[in-house]
Amino acid sequence: MPDYMFLLESRLSPEQRAAMLRVQELAAVLGFNVYLTGGTVRDLITGANLRDLDFTVEGNPSKMARELEKGGAKVLSEDEKLRHVELLFAGDVEGSISAARDEHYVRPGTRPEIRWSTIMEDLRRRDFSLNAIAISLNPASRGLLLDPTNGLSDIEHGEVRALSIHSFTNQPVRLLRALRLAARMGFKLESRTQEWFNLAIERELQLTITPEDAGEEVRSLSREERPQLILKEWEEGDLLELVHPILAKKHPGYDAINRLIKVRDDLYMAGFRPRLATPMLLAIFGRLKDRELSNTLSKLGYRSVEIEAIEKFPEKALEIQKELAGKKTKTPIDAYRYIEKIPMEYVAYLLAESSNSAALSKLKAFLHKWRPVRQALPIVATELEALGMPRGPKFDQIVQDVFAIQLNGRAKTPEERVKILRKLSGIKEPPKKKEKEKKPAKAEKHVETAAEKKAAAVEKHATHERHKAGMKAAAAKHKAKK
Ligand code: ATP
Ligand code: MG
Repeated sequence: MPDYMFLLESRLSPEQRAAMLRVQELAAVLGFNVYLTGGTVRDLITGANLRDLDFTVEGNPSKMARELEKGGAKVLSEDEKLRHVELLFAGDVEGSISAARDEHYVRPGTRPEIRWSTIMEDLRRRDFSLNAIAISLNPASRGLLLDPTNGLSDIEHGEVRALSIHSFTNQPVRLLRALRLAARMGFKLESRTQEWFNLAIERELQLTITPEDAGEEVRSLSREERPQLILKEWEEGDLLELVHPILAKKHPGYDAINRLIKVRDDLYMAGFRPRLATPMLLAIFGRLKDRELSNTLSKLGYRSVEIEAIEKFPEKALEIQKELAGKKTKTPIDAYRYIEKIPMEYVAYLLAESSNSAALSKLKAFLHKWRPVRQALPIVATELEALGMPRGPKFDQIVQDVFAIQLNGRAKTPEERVKILRKLSGIKEPPKKKEKEKKPAKAEKHVETAAEKKAAAVEKHATHERHKAGMKAAAAKHKAKK
């Protein structure tokens, strides 16, 4: 068995690892079995980005949520009926904890009865085999892979396989999910799943997708790495209508999406991993009028505070743009300090959408010039320490002053920096050594070894020969001319 624990730990960020350890600890205290499940395990196996941590516990996660809150985690939403909690752990780590549950459908397509269950039953009630894999985080079986529906093999074959003939009837939103997953991963629908899919479309089950379910898919879409691929699939399958008829008619803002993705890749290169759900949503719905957008989002189950935040986003970005073009951010250091505090999603939005050259040039300088200088600032601190300055508030101030000077394009070389550091700290250069003291240095003068002497002689001879040859050639040329 491959060591999934090792694979997992090597792929988690330090913050994600801390969140996982905390969940494990709490589950142990409460006596719950705990597993990593769903998208996290799928993404781990396929090597995709682990953007969130989905945990499943055999128990009620609400107690865990209360404890996690005490430790600084934020509960983003809690569904007490489904026993599902969405969380933001310390360090901006997204995740969720769900109670293991089974779903029992009295008749296909009716609302299921929920029963709290073991992890195995929970995995079997899921949508697709590639989502029905878990990794145990329990002391006795840590790292063990649970794969009751053979999801691993489907991943190897690049297929999305539904787990039951009633899959789409029971939850028509899985039609959208199937296409989203396949498009995202470059997979195809497994042949029987494709038949069930076609049958569902023939029976117009897509028309029974609730707006809230479609809304959840839109939420997921806006967090996707390449939402344009999914939107194209939905458009081709005539499923975009379900998200909203106006969106289907006016088409998604593919150009805006592509611009934002290009900027995001640039931000990745600069070491940022911003969450871009809001600007992405604005790009997707870019062709809708303001009113149409808020109506659509409200229909899709977005809460009014969320809609307000989305609507206000472009206005806020404009305010930021104004500041960036104004006097307050005229010097590089002032601009740096200002940009440093802006949430990255605004930076991304402006880089993709703004045509204000003053704002754009500062944002670009921030990412590609100023940030690297900031990251190299520990070197300046080391240099100052080497001059003999003790650490403390004055020390920090000098380092910051040098940073400001560097942003103006100076203090690039170590020599230049040492000069400036001496000036700012008042630490004088040690007095020049007198003639007498210099003597030992003279004694250290390089003495040529025999080999070096020989090499020098050979080189001298070679130079002489080259010179001779040159003279000869010149004489011949001269003769020829005559
Ligand atoms: P993402 O990377 O988009 O978060 P995900 O697979 O984690 O992908 P979620 O919507 O977070 O998607 O769902 C978590 C897990 O819950 C899924 O992996 C899947 O196992 C299960 N799930 C979600 N929606 C359904 C559904 N409609 N029917 C059955 N299982 C579902
Ligand atoms: Mg998930």
